[in-house]
This record gives sequence, structure tokens and C-alpha cells, in this order.
Amino acid sequence: MSEDWKNWAGNVTFEAARVHRPTSVEQVQEVVSGAEQVRVLGSGHSFNRIADTPADLVSVAGLPAGVRIDAERGTVSVAGGVRYGELAARLDAEGYALHNLGSLPHISIAGAVATGTHGSGAGLGNLATAVAGMQLVTADGELVELRRGDPEFAGAVVALGALGVVVRVELDIVPRFQVRQTVYEHLARAEVDAHWTELATSAYSVSLFTDWSGDTVNQVWLKRLDDGEAAPAELFGARPAGGPRHPISGVSPVSCTEQGDVPGPWHTRLPHFRLEFTPSSGEELQSEFFVAREDAVAAFAAVERVRHLVTPVLQISEVRVVAADDLWLSPHYRRGSVALHFTWVPDTEAVRPAVAALEAELAPFGARPHWGKVFHTAPDYERVGDFRALAARLDPDGKFRNAFVRRHLFGE
Ligand SMILES: Cc1cc2nc3c(=O)[nH]c(=O)nc-3n(C[C@H](O)[C@H](O)[C@H](O)COP(=O)(O)OP(=O)(O)OC[C@H]3O[C@@H](n4cnc5c(N)ncnc54)[C@H](O)[C@@H]3O)c2cc1C
Repeated sequence: MSEDWKNWAGNVTFEAARVHRPTSVEQVQEVVSGAEQVRVLGSGHSFNRIADTPADLVSVAGLPAGVRIDAERGTVSVAGGVRYGELAARLDAEGYALHNLGSLPHISIAGAVATGTHGSGAGLGNLATAVAGMQLVTADGELVELRRGDPEFAGAVVALGALGVVVRVELDIVPRFQVRQTVYEHLARAEVDAHWTELATSAYSVSLFTDWSGDTVNQVWLKRLDDGEAAPAELFGARPAGGPRHPISGVSPVSCTEQGDVPGPWHTRLPHFRLEFTPSSGEELQSEFFVAREDAVAAFAAVERVRHLVTPVLQISEVRVVAADDLWLSPHYRRGSVALHFTWVPDTEAVRPAVAALEAELAPFGARPHWGKVFHTAPDYERVGDFRALAARLDPDGKFRNAFVRRHLFGE
């Protein structure tokens, strides 16, 4: 590759011999049928080698967006490479919304769906659960359509790019809604344990930010559906912040979506970060582990047991909740989950012992890692055998398998 292609975080330099930027589905079909090994790149926001390949890398960012709303079906169909922020603005203008968004609107839809990317909300499934249908170019260059209800559909949505190039996705939509975002500060750590379920279900979307070091949780971000009521004056003893806040203390909140309980459209409140700014800290690595929501309090204690390794390399941690789904490789498969997220310093070697310690502490809970973030081992998924059978049918020669997929899904 002539130029250095890196992921968003800059910790992965793609090894691809060739990068293709097709501008039509026919061109995608040509590239795939002519390649021996191929991977798809979304917007490159993953923190590991999930998208990498030494052979052919295809970016679908150049396919025309082709946004089509079907009001009767309650869905929108759009090209896979479109970013959530772009689709959201268009949907909102037409009176529609998606059920949820991740913390940033910069990621591509197909890339986010492929890893089971999520926002927060006890009643809200991850972003892949909104997928009602997909078109993908499979190994022989054929365009295959899969719809919710097809026998293998649940295996094909969170698929780590291992089944083909998703060129179009159809997503469920709902009528547009207004959200109020309020940041509370200094929630006593003991209150989190004492009132965990109430706290986790206290708003449409709830995020806790902590560095695990003291006896308080730094911030709680509540995203409430706007019912005209002002935000509660306290949350288990925590008070609303006196002004806008960034999750990482000392960082300017200019990149954050509007807080202060001001009502606004769903897509300008559900993500933490604005589309026009660099999200998060910009200089970071990330890891995330999911355990059952009912194990949350015990899992918090497990994290605190290794805080001497975690806190020194941590910028901030975020705790969220995600509803259970039935997507075979989803980290939330049949398990309402608490998500334990870690924004690390940008130093792979320094972070390694902390990740290993967290994996060891959280293993008794059957913790599953976020596919797109830094981790060392993933447990076997209950449906991995079914997934291998599906992959064998759609991609018999393993054209779409890279080292990451072979290791974590095929046990090689
Ligand atoms: C600042 C920051 C904040 C983040 N916040 C969140 C968050 O709130 N919640 C969360 O869950 N995650 C979060 N993530 C992680 C991120 O959402 C995931 O890594 C996501 O997969 C990135 O999407 P992408 O388009 O960049 O995909 P890539 O990283 O480019 O690719 C990821 C996977 O998708 C596959 N893929 C991409 N496009 C296609 C396609 N068209 N067809 C088939 N397969 C495809 C790739 O092959 C690869 O396997 C965050 C990441 C960053 C950098």
C-alpha cells in the first residue's frame, strides 16, 4: 500500500496490499469476485486488527447513500458505509428517528452493526437489533438479500465482516422524539450498589463515568425522553453539574452534545459527542467488557480489586446498560448486559497488564469483550457452531476470514 492507512486511534496500520474504493455495487462485486482474500473497512473506529488483511481491503464509503424511507414498513434503507450522524439528520428532517445511537455519530452503519456497537438504555438493544434487512456481496460476487425472520438472519447481522460486504442495510425507524440530557456529579459509590437497578433504569439512557479510584462516581449522564418535566434536583444524592461537562475531567466540553436539561432532537442528545468535533479524547485506546446486568454490583467490585493496575493507565471508564437480543455473535446475546468500558492512555504495552487483569477478574461472570476494542481472549459463543456453518455456506473458501476472525471465531 503506497500510503499509510491507519485506524482512527492510530494504533493499527493496515497491512493491506491494495485498497479499493468502489462507487457502485457492481464494482464491489467485481473486486470481491476477483480477490483471493478480502476484508471490508468501515470508518476505521475499531481499536484492533478486526478489519485488517494483508490482501485486499474494500472501503464502501464511496457508495451512493441512497436513503429510502418506507413509512409503511417503518424502516429506512441506506448504503452500509453511511455514517450514523448523516443518516440521523436526514431521518429527523423527515420526522423519524432510530431507537438509539452510540456515543459518537461518526461511525459507519455497517461497521457498527458488524461489531454489535451499542448505546445505553436498559430497554434498548444494541444498534444491530434495529437491522430489519441487509444486502451483502458474498464470496462469489453474488448480491444476497437477508431479512429478519429468515432462518440464518440472526447469525448474519453481527458478523465481524466475515460473511461478505454489506452494501445496504434496512433499519427500523420510529417517530422522531425529543430528549433532555442532564449530567449529575459526585454520586456516592455506595449508592450505586444500593440502588443499581433503579439507577440503571432511571432514564431512557443512563451512563456512569468513573475512574474507580475513590468513593464517588464522577458523573452520571441521564438522557430522558422529554415529557415537559424538569430533571430531578438530585439523583441518589448527586446534584446536576453547574455547567457543561466532558466525561474526562479537565477536557473542554465543546465537543459534547448539549446538556443542562435543554430539550432537543434525539440525534443531538443520544450521542455524547457532536459530529463536527473529534469524539472522546482523540488520543486513546478503548476496551469494553459485558456481563449480565444482575451481576453488575459484583462486577464493579471485581474491577475495583484490580484498580491499582487499571487507574494509572485509565483516562475514564463508562458504565452503560444494554438490553438482551438474539443475534448469535452479539455480546448481548440473550443477556441484558452491563457494559464496563475503559478509555485508556494511548500506549498498548502499558495497557496490556490492566486488560489481562480485567479479563481474569471478569472471567467468572462469563464476560464478553466488545469485538471492536482491545482485548486478548473472547469466550466461545453458544451459537459459534451455527455461525461457522453459515460462513461455510456463504464463504466456503474463507475469503472473508482474516487472522482476527480465524482466531476468535474459528479457534485457529
Ligand atoms: C471514539 C470512539 C467511541 C466509540 N464509542 C462506542 C460506543 O459508544 N459504543 C460501542 O459499542 N462502540 C463504540 N466504539 C467502537 C466502534 O463503534 C466500533 O468499533 C465500530 O465497529 C466501528 O465502526 P466502523 O464503521 O469504524 O467499523 P470498522 O472499525 O471499520 O470495522 C469494524 C468491523 O466491521 C466490518 N465492516 C465494516 N464495514 C462493513 C461492511 N460494509 N460490510 C461488512 N462488514 C463491515 C469490518 O470488516 C470489521 O470487522 C467507539 C469507537 C471510538 C473510536
